[in-house]
Order: sequence, then C-alpha cells, then structure tokens
Amino acid sequence: MRAAAESIRQGVRSGELIDLPPVEEEVEQDISALEGRLLIRKHYARERNRKLRSQKIDKVLAQGSPIACEACDFDFARTYGPRGGNYIEVHHIVPLHHIGESKTRLDDLALLCANCHRMIHVSRPWLTVDELHVLLQEQSQSGD
Ligand SMILES: [Zn+2]
Ligand SMILES: [Zn+2]
Repeated sequence: MRAAAESIRQGVRSGELIDLPPVEEEVEQDISALEGRLLIRKHYARERNRKLRSQKIDKVLAQGSPIACEACDFDFARTYGPRGGNYIEVHHIVPLHHIGESKTRLDDLALLCANCHRMIHVSRPWLTVDELHVLLQEQSQSGD
C-alpha cells in the first residue's frame, strides 16, 4: 500500500500521471449512476405523496384486504402490534422514465414492506413486484 502510494507520488512529480482523461466506460458508468440516483429520487418523491398513500390504503381496507406486503405478505400490525397498524410502504409500479410526469392512479401503487421495497430498488434494473414475489418463492423452495 505504501509502495503504491509512493509510486503514485513519483508519477505525479514526474508529470506522468497528471489529469488523465477518464476512459469512455467510466464516463458512461458515471452518467448511468447519476441517472439512477435521479430516478430513485424522483421515484421516492412521488411515493411520498401523502394523499395518494392514504387513498391507496383506504381503498385496500375498503376491499376488506389486510394492509400487507404484496410481495411477501408481511403485515406490520401482525408482527409489531398497534405500533405497526396500517404501516406499509407505497411503491410506484410504473418506472418513471416510461411515464414522465403523468398523473398517478391508485392502481399504479403497490403496497410493500420495507425489506421488499428496498430489494426492488437495490440495483438496476428494478424488479417488478411480481418478479420479487417469484424470487421469494424460488428462494423459499431452494432453502432446505
Ligand atoms: Zn415484503
Ligand atoms: Zn418504490
């Protein structure tokens, strides 16, 4: 490590290592990382719309369904009691780059537990709720 640092210092002193332009691949990765961050920021901003969120939860309750994760069935109230009552994350199922700034309908929203929501967004391409559901089933079957 110290040897590497020293050879870099020498390279800089000798002028060999100044301002190397990034190779094309690095530039492309930077741009897609930036785009990814922007998309996820927009995505979360849209999901934070409180009115849509409570309308979605009310609709599910009105249908007589429990407030549970659509991918793994986790129910916060069942595990955490009253503290978890009606707690759930709301996920926008239509990728933003496909719909631009159009209006969100309640059917565009899926209810997810915090773990499943994170797993959908942990890397790109994002999984659909159905894909995550299938993944969970495959995992539990291959489990033991
Ligand atoms: Zn879940
Ligand atoms: Zn989401």
